Amino acid sequence: MLKTTEIPNLVKSQKEFFATGKTKDIAFRKEQLEKLKKEIKNHQEAITDALFKDLGKPKFEAILTEVANCEEETNYILKHLDRWAKYKPVKTPLNFFPANSLIVPEPLGQALIIGPWNYPFQLSILPLLGAIAAGNCAIIKPSEITPNVSKVIADVIGKTFDPNYITVVEGDKTVAEELLKQKFDHIFYTGGARVGKIVMKAAAENLTPVTLELGGKSPCIVEPDIHIKHSARRIIWGKCLNAGQTCVAPDYLLVHREIKDQLVTAMKDSLKEFFGENPAESPDYARIVSDRHFNRLTEFLKEGNIIVGGETDAESRYIAPTLIDEVSWNDAVMEEEIFGPILPIIEYDDLESAFAKHGRSPIAQINDRPKPLALYLFSKSKSKQKQVLQQTSAGGVTLNDTIIHLGSPELPFGGVGESGMGAYHGKASFDTFTHYKSVTNRKFWLDIKLRYPPYADKFKFLKFLFK
Ligand code: NAD
Repeated sequence: MLKTTEIPNLVKSQKEFFATGKTKDIAFRKEQLEKLKKEIKNHQEAITDALFKDLGKPKFEAILTEVANCEEETNYILKHLDRWAKYKPVKTPLNFFPANSLIVPEPLGQALIIGPWNYPFQLSILPLLGAIAAGNCAIIKPSEITPNVSKVIADVIGKTFDPNYITVVEGDKTVAEELLKQKFDHIFYTGGARVGKIVMKAAAENLTPVTLELGGKSPCIVEPDIHIKHSARRIIWGKCLNAGQTCVAPDYLLVHREIKDQLVTAMKDSLKEFFGENPAESPDYARIVSDRHFNRLTEFLKEGNIIVGGETDAESRYIAPTLIDEVSWNDAVMEEEIFGPILPIIEYDDLESAFAKHGRSPIAQINDRPKPLALYLFSKSKSKQKQVLQQTSAGGVTLNDTIIHLGSPELPFGGVGESGMGAYHGKASFDTFTHYKSVTNRKFWLDIKLRYPPYADKFKFLKFLFK
């Protein structure tokens, strides 16, 4: 493992590598993406094993949400990279005549990618794919909370790349702090808001741009005009994936009074269908990542009325999928992001009167709180969909399902307000690590003297141009 004292030299040697111009070659970038794809395939077993050790992540989930999406994203980038990297001619104002203009995409230089623990593989690799596609060098700092995955990322990257080009620096926050003292050209951070602020402060010292992929409490609104069984399944799936440790998991449920009982019954059925009578025995249900998070989550079980679940086992850090009823907006479970398999339920009577200061409009309650990373609405009604889209703000939205909007490479993924800044996936990843350089190219064959001093007789032309 690299010592923190070696970090400044590593950063320097990457800068030298970038200065060779090698990464600017599109064929080089594609070759590196292909190499990485191959190495990830070779390590698939090691990756899923590490995810099981660190998070008890079921193999199916590990492949679906950590490995396969990296391959899909790579293929998508390889298909589009030539087009994205092309110089783009644009119109030129007549008063610059004779000239032409173009936008030239260029790599930012050297990126630092700081990853979290909940999807520790994909959340380090997906940003890296964007950094490679855009022609950057990169250092990845995976989360120390998932040490087995951190090690496997280091192995995959070590086997694929020259460390002067791309490398992994493993370690805890002291390592992250040392990295943040260096001057990078972009910092891509995924994790909680508290550390996000530390990252942004450190970046400000060097005027380094940042992408902050943060979290927040993502609401899930359920109107009465739905397919109950399908809605219940989709909500429970989104909440229980990775035992609720998903940044875009539905954090809490706002359900119309008319449909609440039926939905709760259907959600209980879904839980049984997915995990059997005892989810602790299911091979398809993950565990909580650390004792700290286990203890934090079990505190939430002391509030409200548990209608299903609530069982825990400290040794294996198991928390059963839990539905809590009779929760109020002031309970602790409604104050911070839950990030675990606990779903509080709040009922409402009316989605209307969105901007009312008082009353019980769920839209007003959502708007009183920090902007979430995701928002879910279950309703067939086009007008309700439009209303919620227009009257709330969130990083992303899925209507009538959960989570899936982040799976499309056509949709930029990122937060807004306190849930983050910047976005990635697909073209947005390329954009994040690219500077679009504006270029005007004048010709020599004509040099109209209008803009040159002396100005005395030229005011009439100004008037003509800007009338
Ligand atoms: P974490 O504890 O793994 O921290 C993230 C990274 O920050 C780690 O690499 C860690 O070493 C580093 N770090 C910790 N302290 C630091 C410091 N003082 N200085 C610099 N770096 C430091 O992750 P977390 O914060 O527990 O992650 C959970 C949060 O992340 C949740 O809020 C979740 O919603 C959010 N999240 C967001 C996304 C997204 O895509 N928007 C994805 C996953 C998680």
